[in-house]
Amino acid sequence: MSVEPNASGAAATPAPTDFVRDIVAQHVTEKRYAKIVTRFPPEPNGYLHIGHAKSICLNFGIARENNGQCNLRFDDTNPVKEDVEYVDSITTDVQWLIAGWADHCLGFKPKGAHPEAVTSNGRPDFFRAPVAPGANAEPFFASDYFEQIYGYAVELIKRGKAYVCDLSPEDTEAYRGAPDRPGKDSPFRHRSVAENLDLFTRMRAGEFPDGARTLRAKIDNSSPNMWLRDPLLYRIRHVAHHHAGDKWCIYPLYDFAHCLSDYLEGITHSICTLEFDAHRALYDWTLESLDLPRSLPHQYEFAKLNLGYTIVSKRKLLQLVQDKSVAGWDDPRMPTISGLRRRGIPASALRRFVTGVGVTKFDSVTDVAVFEHAVREELNASAQRRLAVLKPIKLVLTNIAPGEVLECDATNNPQDETPTTRKLALTREVFIDCDDFAEVPPPKYFRLKPGGEVRLKYACIIKCDELVKDSSGQITELRCTADLTTRAGGPNVDRKVKGTIHWVSATQSIETEVRLYDRLFTVPEPDADGEFKKHLNPRSLEVVTARLETSLGAATLAERFQFERLGYFALDPKDSAPGRLVFNRTITLKDAWAPKK
Ligand code: ATP
Ligand code: MG
Repeated sequence: MSVEPNASGAAATPAPTDFVRDIVAQHVTEKRYAKIVTRFPPEPNGYLHIGHAKSICLNFGIARENNGQCNLRFDDTNPVKEDVEYVDSITTDVQWLIAGWADHCLGFKPKGAHPEAVTSNGRPDFFRAPVAPGANAEPFFASDYFEQIYGYAVELIKRGKAYVCDLSPEDTEAYRGAPDRPGKDSPFRHRSVAENLDLFTRMRAGEFPDGARTLRAKIDNSSPNMWLRDPLLYRIRHVAHHHAGDKWCIYPLYDFAHCLSDYLEGITHSICTLEFDAHRALYDWTLESLDLPRSLPHQYEFAKLNLGYTIVSKRKLLQLVQDKSVAGWDDPRMPTISGLRRRGIPASALRRFVTGVGVTKFDSVTDVAVFEHAVREELNASAQRRLAVLKPIKLVLTNIAPGEVLECDATNNPQDETPTTRKLALTREVFIDCDDFAEVPPPKYFRLKPGGEVRLKYACIIKCDELVKDSSGQITELRCTADLTTRAGGPNVDRKVKGTIHWVSATQSIETEVRLYDRLFTVPEPDADGEFKKHLNPRSLEVVTARLETSLGAATLAERFQFERLGYFALDPKDSAPGRLVFNRTITLKDAWAPKK
């Protein structure tokens, strides 16, 4: 079993095992292939989501564990739904997710890598292009193979295994029959090879309008597998292509282009999700029918990642973007890779999660708590602790003189082997969170209450002497005394009180926007009734004006913080600018949704 460094490079995690890896291991033992080659083949019709992260880590992981190669390839056969915006976002997301992961390999920096993903030791193989040597780090495009794929279609026609069909889309569908009813042969099925070649050439030349003709495989219209009932191979679409330009007016269907792209790239293991199970026969038929030189790629299917309280479908996520239920594909509440990144989730946490859930053949829904746990584990080890107050209420320490500053040492990360500290300023006026004070406390309330005592973390014990209210009865300040003998080094430092709360100095702190995210949906399976939008959480975003300890003014995009007692936070990479910091809450400290014990 090989061992990989994780994000921090500290702990080592054993490489995962699963049924796909077992198959690959068997092939390696048999020396069946010179090299293991996989691919991740997104269609550029939306942003990648957390489900895709699983596929990326599986495909790149298997390649990496076997000294192989994994290609990021755009399956871009449907120009109507695709866009270069999606090509760019997908490339960025994949590079961000895997770049830091391949650190043990040769020196290589993927071109256009995400700034956070820059690695000193990337892996050139992951992006090596067989068709364009030197195009390291560039993704592959099925559309770059259109000419070859067209050639294969011509070859199928010559072998009497494909024909041009003039049935309308509706008739084609009707002729296909149903799973419990055989289909009917098209009246155009027996055209001669010469006529088919002529018509197909003219289809390419643009002689016919959209939908007038198709190229179909000649297989078996009575097959129980609907995908073998003379499936379409090419259709006419008079539209330009985002990558191939305006060269084509006929486009291959996904099934035809996919197996041939795999073949052209020398893919050995074409790993996809269970819904493609029924397509495998067509995948094999196409490659076998062309009598291609061996070795041929093979398709293997695994169950999709489904996550509780989450939608993993590009089509449905697109609806949320289009109807402005969220602020865009990279809204930090979205389960997109760009949303998760913007929210502050480290790539290593995402990898840890999608790898940890395993690979099976059974559809299931993974509890979102498993994901959140992976994120907390990762951040607990790496995040710097800081003090911040999300909903400030002013507290006056009446026995500290105005202008007086008492320094306190605060620990940066207790998880470090030798934790370091920084200085905090205790001043006459401080802020505490209004949730940490109750005028009429419930039983067993250990935070601050009239006449009660708490410890201000890293500082001292304070006692609440008096409430000051405005004319409307709102509390405007709490007047307290600080027991300075309970400070570090003081004679009563060991004096115990039941509650410890966080605070910041009113005069030595910064005011900042903080965005508090909650789950986007209120139910574990938002799409169970097909009406996922009805289950959007109206309180998925709360924006507060918080007070943060001054050191956070120098925060950088790459840093992660634990605001003590509140959760993990990171700068919003999009809306933060010099002089205007915006923090996102990446995740709360514990599962606020867990049933109360
Ligand atoms: P969506 O349903 O979100 O549009 P898709 O399968 O149509 O997803 P593709 O762009 O075709 O999106 O996906 C690229 C690869 O990612 C495919 O190999 C697909 O099997 C895999 N994939 C998609 N969704 C998941 C998921 N939830 N879990 C694991 N792998 C996935
Ligand atoms: Mg798809």
